[in-house]
Amino acid sequence: MPAKILIVEDEPAIAELVALHCKHAGFDTQNVAAVLDARDIVDETLPDLIVLDWMLPDKPGIDFARELRRDERTKDLPVLMLTARADEDDKVLGLEVGADDYVTKPFSPKELIARIKALLRRAAPELNDNALEIAGLRLDPVSHRVSAGDLELKVGPTEFRLLRFMMSRPERVFTRQALLDGVWGDHVFIEERTVDVHVRRLRVALEPSAHDRLIETVRGGGYRLRKA
Ligand code: CA
Repeated sequence: MPAKILIVEDEPAIAELVALHCKHAGFDTQNVAAVLDARDIVDETLPDLIVLDWMLPDKPGIDFARELRRDERTKDLPVLMLTARADEDDKVLGLEVGADDYVTKPFSPKELIARIKALLRRAAPELNDNALEIAGLRLDPVSHRVSAGDLELKVGPTEFRLLRFMMSRPERVFTRQALLDGVWGDHVFIEERTVDVHVRRLRVALEPSAHDRLIETVRGGGYRLRKA
C-alpha cells in the first residue's frame, strides 16, 4: 500500500513539483490549493502525511496544523511545513504549533523526499517492508505470509492489513474509528461494526497457534495487540 501524501499548496508550479517527486518516490498524491479543501479530504480519509504550505489563500497553513494537533483523530498525522519564510522565529513557531518538520523554499526535491520518508518511517512503521515479529507470530509484508514457527496461518487480505497495522503499534489501544482510518483509509461507507467482523476473523485465523490471545478487546475503547 503506497503512502498517501496530501499536498496543500496554492502555487501550481510548486504543487506540481512536489507531486511529481512524491510520485517518483512511489507515493500516492492528492493536491489541493486551500485549507478548506484539505479539511474536506482529511475528514473523509486520513492521508499518511500532509505537505502543508504556510501561505494559503483562505487561512495560514500553520492554523490548519494547529487544528490537526488538537483533534484526537489527527493529532499524530505527520505535517511537513513548506514555506518561503526563512526566518528562524517562524521555523520555531511552526514546529511548536504542530508541524513535524519544515522545508524552506526554494528546496531541493531530494531533500524534501528524504524528509518525507523520515517522517513516514517515524509515524507508520508498517509502510516499510520489514517483517514484524511479536511473541513468535511473524508477518512478512513482502511474501504476504503470517506464520508461527513452521506453522503457516491463513489470513485474508483485510485481516492481513489489520494485523500489520496493529503489529506495527503493539500495546496501543485503537478505537474502531482509528482502525477504520488506519486500515481501511477510505471508510466513508463502512460501518464501525465492520471492524468487529474482521477482528473476529483475524482471531479465528490466529487460533491454530493460539496467537488470537494477543488481540485484546478493550472495554469502551476498542482493540489492542499485546506484546505477549
Ligand atoms: Ca502559498
